[in-house]
Amino acid sequence: MSAPQPVGDVVGRAAAGFTAQFGGQAAGSWAAPGRVNLIGEHTDYNEGFVLPFALPMRTIVAADRQDGEHWTVWSELPDETITFGAHDVAEPGRVTGWGAYVAGVVWALREAGHRVPGARLAIASDVPLGSGLSSSAALESAVLAALLDLGGLELPATAQPRLAQRAENVYVGAPTGIMDQSASIRCRAGHALFLDCRDESVEHIPFDLEAAGLAVLVINSRAPHRHADGEYAARRRSCEAGARALGVAALRDVGVDQLDAALAQLDDEETRRRVRHVVTEDQRVLDTVALLRAARVNEIGPLLTASHVSMRDDFEITVPEVDTAVEAALAAGALGARMTGGGFGGCVLALVEVDRADAVAAAVTTAYAERGFTTPGTVPVLPSPGATRLA
Ligand code: ADP
Ligand code: MG
Repeated sequence: MSAPQPVGDVVGRAAAGFTAQFGGQAAGSWAAPGRVNLIGEHTDYNEGFVLPFALPMRTIVAADRQDGEHWTVWSELPDETITFGAHDVAEPGRVTGWGAYVAGVVWALREAGHRVPGARLAIASDVPLGSGLSSSAALESAVLAALLDLGGLELPATAQPRLAQRAENVYVGAPTGIMDQSASIRCRAGHALFLDCRDESVEHIPFDLEAAGLAVLVINSRAPHRHADGEYAARRRSCEAGARALGVAALRDVGVDQLDAALAQLDDEETRRRVRHVVTEDQRVLDTVALLRAARVNEIGPLLTASHVSMRDDFEITVPEVDTAVEAALAAGALGARMTGGGFGGCVLALVEVDRADAVAAAVTTAYAERGFTTPGTVPVLPSPGATRLA
């Protein structure tokens, strides 16, 4: 993030990158967005609910076909070109580094029986990498859209997230759920994507911030990720232990009305708190969806803030930077605020009236400065479209 920001519109940069790297013009350009999760944290692996929406920040792939089973890929951010061939996509792991996300999509398509055309791809992105806004899914989803179109391959949108997820889980080797790819591929402008992680069904829920005079401020906490992987694994184990002790397939099966009885059955205090977070968080997603369906978007703030408190006190996955951002945003008039993502850093969302966005961002920046934290990034966003062909 300290690298100089590339200049110019991201779509133009991908097209210009294609010409500079490969000569000529790309046959087309495809876009896929990053995402944030509005609410529903650590509910995914408990077979519960999440509610992401797509960001205006996107990854763009400008591409055309080339002969043979060869793929040549340039990305602006590392400013590197990699090439790989049929041997490299015969088995996971043969391409490493950032190229694995691209090779993984080719691998997953071939594994699903598709004839993937050789291609040259130029990639530019304004999704920040590694900040929890899912640049990885944006990359996979944009590459997938490009390869499907270039090859005239048929794969319904409903099946695409799973294929992109396989690329990341199996080829790259990163264990992630289905949310990121579902959001990047299937979100719609002005909507959030209500995803049931048990059966992977989705519903588009109106989330028209613009009409309500609202925006979501995305605050990049810039907190260094402290032991995030180990803590994540520990939370998963606690949830699994809780579900086992309660005799349910997953914590999704415990309703809030059964929560007190369930907690009484658990003798471990830590497990009790972990279970309480997941069960109440699922309910907060459902409550948020109900308010959004009733066009009461300006009333969801308290649910967002309650989610943060639950992550802070019961699930214990927040860090001083994100707590500071939430507190400062609320004190400056945000309607609600919460950390989003797996925890131990990443981003904070604040629901703000559009004309308060600058004041809230300034308040967070000031609170950070007072505590000596690295200046956070802040950007107001609206729910944006999912993956699409541009031209
Ligand atoms: P996140 O998805 O939250 O941004 P991840 O660690 O899952 O974080 O994915 C980030 C990785 O994805 C990067 O380190 C890089 O390997 C790859 N990546 C994402 N976008 C790009 C891009 N535009 N160019 C090259 N690599 C990218
Ligand atoms: Mg990712």
